[in-house]
Amino acid sequence: MLADLIITNAGELFTCQGPAPRAGARQADAGRLTHAAVASLEGRIVFVGSDADCREAVALAAGGRAVDAAGGAVVPGFVDPHTHLLYAGSRLDELRRRLAGETYADIAAAGGGIVRTVADTREASIDRLVDDGSRRLHEMLTCGTTTAEVKSGYGLCLEAELKLLHAAAALAKAQPIELAITFLGAHEIPPEFRGDREAYLELVIDEMLPAVARAGLAEWCDVFCEQGVFTPEESRRVLEAGLALGLKARIHANELGSTGGASVAAAVGARSADHVVFADENEVRQLAESGTVATLLPAAAFYLKLGRFAPARALIDAGVPVALATDVNPGGGFSPSIPFAMTLACFQMEMTFEEALVASTLNAAYALDRADRVGSLEVDKQLDAVIVGGPPAELLRGGVPAVRLVVKRGAVVWEAPPPFRSDRRE
Ligand SMILES: [Zn+2]
Repeated sequence: MLADLIITNAGELFTCQGPAPRAGARQADAGRLTHAAVASLEGRIVFVGSDADCREAVALAAGGRAVDAAGGAVVPGFVDPHTHLLYAGSRLDELRRRLAGETYADIAAAGGGIVRTVADTREASIDRLVDDGSRRLHEMLTCGTTTAEVKSGYGLCLEAELKLLHAAAALAKAQPIELAITFLGAHEIPPEFRGDREAYLELVIDEMLPAVARAGLAEWCDVFCEQGVFTPEESRRVLEAGLALGLKARIHANELGSTGGASVAAAVGARSADHVVFADENEVRQLAESGTVATLLPAAAFYLKLGRFAPARALIDAGVPVALATDVNPGGGFSPSIPFAMTLACFQMEMTFEEALVASTLNAAYALDRADRVGSLEVDKQLDAVIVGGPPAELLRGGVPAVRLVVKRGAVVWEAPPPFRSDRRE
């Protein structure tokens, strides 16, 4: 057979093959092959298997490219199913103030926090949002992400939420990472509605959601279900209104306490319940029974210094499919790196490397309802892949760039610069 991209000489190749999602004990099977190769034609995988079989079965088409993995690991392109990457301004100064002892409440009282991001975002031009978003997506690409979710949610008024969704649509066409777009008008009650939360809820349900659906700007509807933000009843109203308009449901649930979000996810059949730092036995069972993915965001728990991480072991052992995401955002999602999320999953949440890898590929693709096309290296799926510059555990070294090359739809879209070699002449 013919291929226009062939990756050979993978010391280890992890297919992470379906059926999706991989839950319970199946999450630990990442489909490891050794001395392996993968090949694609026009973006679609035509071969995955041993190097020896590849040499016999696959021929390189004229103008095609052969990539030598040089014994490094090959894994599916990472899928990041939870980001807030569209916002204006930076709050890295607040990070330093928090490290020096100020609380989030102190910073918010002085005009910082999410209110500051909302003000900056409302003022920003769409070009500025696209430029900033494209820089953040490039960072994600260099860490191996080939598919990502992007939420609105820092506009909190019809005009600014639509501006964010239009920026997401522009970005989807302008760079290699495939985007799944989510409307999160119910991210927070904006300052001008603090005295009348019901009025804001009605704005989201009666005006924003229909406008977003009419314009075809979002695939998903999300809500921040948390103490002091949206109650479980309000969250359910938002998600059901979205579902009625054809927007699929996902939810921010149980980040700061057992505040009912996981139960709402199960009740409305949300594809994913995100954060789930807290989950009692009853909530874990509800998620398992509804088939909802628990998308865990350990970098958020880390940077917010929550003092605990999601109970990944209990979730996996109960048969809940677990995915991982970065939670890129201006207030606590400072790392765009899925390998960093995997590292925290392994060292703070007792997950194995294979479980973390499946969580970042096949199960994350399932969390975005894309597991039929991406998230694993299987014949007929899209070739999205990452070549690691060494054995797979290179991904867990923290802060060391481990990704050597990234492939999206069968094309090389990013390559690390070659290591420095002194070019001495005798
Ligand atoms: Zn979030």
